Amino acid sequence: MKVLSLTCQNYRNLQKACLQPESGVNVLWGENAQGKTNLLEALWLFTGGHSFRGAKDSELVLHGASGTRLELAFFSEEREQTAALQIEGGRRHAFLNEVPLRSSNGLVGHFCAVIFSPEHIALVREGPANRRNFLDAALCQLKPGYVRLLNRYQRLLAQRNALLKDIPRHPELTETLPVWDVRLVQDGLQIVSQRQAYLERLTTAAARIYSGLSHGKEQLSLDYQCSAEDLAAALLENRERDIRQGFTSAGPHRDDMEILLDSAAARTYGSQGQKRSIVLALKLAEAQVLEEITGEKPVVLLDDVLSELDGGRQDYLLNHLSDCQVFITCCVPQQACGLHGGGLYQVKNGCVR
Ligand code: ATP
Ligand code: MG
Repeated sequence: MKVLSLTCQNYRNLQKACLQPESGVNVLWGENAQGKTNLLEALWLFTGGHSFRGAKDSELVLHGASGTRLELAFFSEEREQTAALQIEGGRRHAFLNEVPLRSSNGLVGHFCAVIFSPEHIALVREGPANRRNFLDAALCQLKPGYVRLLNRYQRLLAQRNALLKDIPRHPELTETLPVWDVRLVQDGLQIVSQRQAYLERLTTAAARIYSGLSHGKEQLSLDYQCSAEDLAAALLENRERDIRQGFTSAGPHRDDMEILLDSAAARTYGSQGQKRSIVLALKLAEAQVLEEITGEKPVVLLDDVLSELDGGRQDYLLNHLSDCQVFITCCVPQQACGLHGGGLYQVKNGCVR
């Protein structure tokens, strides 16, 4: 997978910007607030996802403009393809090879990328929702069927929770609970088994990459943690409590991924640089698993990754990535001096030079 060109029109501060990258490592450098992250974010949107900064679509349009248009030319599945995204009046319109798509979800699986940004440190530092989202987002990019499964589970869960809240006022509704439980267990178990199978592949790749980053000094391991060994039994056992609390206390929406460094919880004991290295290893492992399954190397987007990594880790990173197309942002080009080959682009006031 390679980006051939990206043009942005009225996208955040990129009023009219065009990037024609190299196939190796591309360094986007410039002072703060010039548009480097905005360029990565624009590329990311072509995966079919939302802004990795959690922005609403309306916030992506240049202040004062009525809409934005992004155009991408990329090489994938052994041919040149094009995609376009337009946001107008809060609505997205997506096109693939000039054919309009029903929604931007239709882009999923056509253009693949992994993104690392400083905020992703929450993956190690914050609560389990971040880790579940990471696993789910990776699986959604791999399997369109997983998106449907997850959406259906979330709808079922919302319906069961609404029912739990109604039961104290209408106790006769308790009888309908088993119907929801059966469907929740059915989809819940599928989600867990897909996450576990994915995690198994991810663990092998992430441990190897982490070992490279730390020069073999530290060992990373990951483990899936189920909120219930037997989901059907747990729903039954927790029923009274769930009714009291008004929510479902077991299921894949409560699971977690344990991250250990040399057998100690990274969340509690890891240093800032270690946490950053773990996130990086997870993201690069995600890229590797994507490649193993789809046969295409995803584009790697690294926002501000070099700060907080020591020289050895930076060196490993810059040289480990040589066979993917990479976009890496930094403030001064010297930060990426360990890099061999590739393109160097200055981003200034929303323009790419
Ligand atoms: P840093 O090195 O600090 O990370 P950056 O080059 O990555 O900087 P960006 O996050 O890309 O900076 O943001 C560039 C500028 O875009 C910021 O000044 C920001 O205020 C501006 N900006 C964000 N959204 C919009 C918008 N909708 N319209 C106009 N400008 C915007
Ligand atoms: Mg930035």
